[in-house]
Amino acid sequence: MHHTSHQTSHEKEPGKDTAKDPVCGMTVRKEEAIHRSYNGQEYYFCSERCLQAFEDNRNKPVL
Ligand SMILES: [Zn+2]
Repeated sequence: MHHTSHQTSHEKEPGKDTAKDPVCGMTVRKEEAIHRSYNGQEYYFCSERCLQAFEDNRNKPVL
């Protein structure tokens, strides 16, 4: 008997088209996310709310 495996592996490739929202930690698609770069570092946010939260955090003095 010869088994032909025809499983279509449809795995997502993390890091290529997706990025991690630093605020809520969810994975976002780069093409749909809100993109900002600070100090040469790229950030992707799932929503305006996370962007706002991130910017609020940045503006706070580090104790
Ligand atoms: Zn988020």
